[in-house]
Amino acid sequence: MAHITKNFTEKELQCPCCGKIEMDYAYMVDLQELRTLCNFGFKVNSGYRCESHNAKVSKNSQNDHVKGMAVDIHMTNRYKRAKLLKNLLNSGDFKDIAIAKTFIHIGRGKAAQGVGVYG
Ligand SMILES: [Zn+2]
Ligand SMILES: [Zn+2]
Repeated sequence: MAHITKNFTEKELQCPCCGKIEMDYAYMVDLQELRTLCNFGFKVNSGYRCESHNAKVSKNSQNDHVKGMAVDIHMTNRYKRAKLLKNLLNSGDFKDIAIAKTFIHIGRGKAAQGVGVYG
């Protein structure tokens, strides 16, 4: 199993429809830093998406998943969610954060940091 960084494998980040993977390496280095700070496992619900797969699951055709600069991390534990958000906000490396019931979207984003909610 090829690792991209210490705790992330190509397999868990590749597009589920075609296996393509073009994660941005600088993004992955920052994500690994975040993972190390949190010190608990990140279950990746969604990582890299090719344009056609992204079109099936998102209304935003140019979102960060297509650029290899976003992951959705499974998250249902309130304490882990708090720790993840604290480290996300502190790091400043991820401007586009969005909270769903069962996961957190961690996108590179642009300019100002924002926290969205789904639903
Ligand atoms: Zn695909
Ligand atoms: Zn996402």
